Amino acid sequence: MKYDTALLHGNFKGDNNTGATLVPIYQSSAFGQDTAEKTEDIFHNRASGFAYTRISNPTVASFENRITYLEGGIASVAVSSGMAAITASFLNILSSGDEIISKSSVFGGTLDLFKDLENLGIRTRFVENITKEELEKNVNEHTKLVFAETIGNPRLDVTDIKESAGLIHSFGIPFILDNTTATTYIVKGIELGADIIINSASKYINGNSNSISGIITDSGNFKWTEEKYPIMKEYIRLGRFAYTAKLRNDTFRNMGCCLSPMNAYYNSLGLETLSLRMERHCRNALSLARSLEHAEGIREVNYPILRSSPYYDTAKRVLGEKGGGILTLRLYTKERAFAFINRLKYAVNITNIGDTKTLVIHPASTIYAHSSRAEQEKAGVYDDLIRVSVGIEDIDDITEDFRQALDYVNESFGF
Ligand SMILES: *Cc1c(COP(=O)(O)O)cnc(C)c1O
Repeated sequence: MKYDTALLHGNFKGDNNTGATLVPIYQSSAFGQDTAEKTEDIFHNRASGFAYTRISNPTVASFENRITYLEGGIASVAVSSGMAAITASFLNILSSGDEIISKSSVFGGTLDLFKDLENLGIRTRFVENITKEELEKNVNEHTKLVFAETIGNPRLDVTDIKESAGLIHSFGIPFILDNTTATTYIVKGIELGADIIINSASKYINGNSNSISGIITDSGNFKWTEEKYPIMKEYIRLGRFAYTAKLRNDTFRNMGCCLSPMNAYYNSLGLETLSLRMERHCRNALSLARSLEHAEGIREVNYPILRSSPYYDTAKRVLGEKGGGILTLRLYTKERAFAFINRLKYAVNITNIGDTKTLVIHPASTIYAHSSRAEQEKAGVYDDLIRVSVGIEDIDDITEDFRQALDYVNESFGF
C-alpha cells in the first residue's frame, strides 16, 4: 500500500458493526462486561476489550493503530498533548540520577520540561548537533536517551536521522525523535533508525487546530536491559513490547494523560487528508520563502531547502524536495517585527503551527519567554525573528499580504 492510500486504509476498516466509513466516537468513560471473569481477564491483559477510557478506548485505539501503521512501529499510545507525549516517553524509562542528551534547538515547551526534570534529579546535556565528538563528550553511565527533532522548531535545522541513530546506538542508547514538524509525509523516523517517535498531533496530523493531543510510537527495535533500565524490570521479559507495555500499564495510565475520544476522532479525520495538506504547506512555504529571500528590509529568510540555509545539505538528504511548512524571517529589530505582524491581513498572530491557515508568532517574547538569551540563540530565536507556519491558502494572496506588510514596515521605519 502506498503512503496516500495508507492514510485512508492503513490499519483501518471503518466500523464492522454498522459499516460506518468513519470510526464511531465512543464518548464513554467506562465499558461494562457480562461477567466478573471477563473484567478480570481484561485487567490482566488476557482478553481484549475495554474497561476505562483513561487506559484505552475504541476511538482512541483506532487512531493509535492508524499512526502505528504509518510510522511503521509496533504500537502507539495516544495522549492528551504533545508535551504529555514527550513527558511520558521520558518518564517511562528515567529515574532520578539519569541523564538526557538533547539537541539545543528543540521546542520551547520541551526546554521548559527539561528544567522541571532537574527537580526530579534528571539532568539534560545539550548538544548543537549529534556527532561522534559531542556524544563522546557527553555520554556517561547515567545517559539513558538522546532526543532531537527532525526539523528543529524554530531553528529549522535538520537532523540526519540515519546517521544520528547509528551514532547513538553505538553507545547503547535509544533515540527518541520528535517528528511533529515533518510528519510521516516527509520522514519515516523508524525506517531511518529512531527508536521512539513523538508527534504533537495538535499540529499537522489534526490539521485544523481543533484538538490538542500527542502520540508516542514504539519501533520495538531497542533492546532494553534490566541492567541499564532497572525501572523496566517487570517488563523486560516482554521483549519488543517492553517499552509499550510499561507505558500503557504504568506510566501513561498513572499519569492520567489520556486523549478524549472526540479528539481522537478529529485526529483520524484530519489524518486522512495529511498528504494533500502537507503537499500544499510545503509548496506554499517554499514559494513564500523564495519570494522574500532577497526582499529589501529582511535580514534573513530561513527555510531548510533554500540554498542559503545553513542546513541545506542535510535538508536535501533527509527531506528531499519537501521542506516542511515552517519558515522564519528576521526583520532587523523587534519593533519592525511587531509592526510587521500587526500589519498582516490574513496571517493570524498565534502560538501554533500546522493549521490550514497561515500563522505567525514572535517566539522570543512568547514561546521562549522563559529561556535565557543564550538558550534562545541556541534554539535559533532572536529578537527580530518571526516564525511563519504557512497555510494552504492561495499563495498569491499570502505573498501579497507579506509584501504589503513589509512595504509598510520599510516606509514607517525608513529602510
Ligand atoms: C507543539 C509542539 C510540541 C508540543 O505539543 P502540544 O500538543 O502543544 O503539547 C512538541 N514538539 C514540537 C516540535 C511542537 O511543535
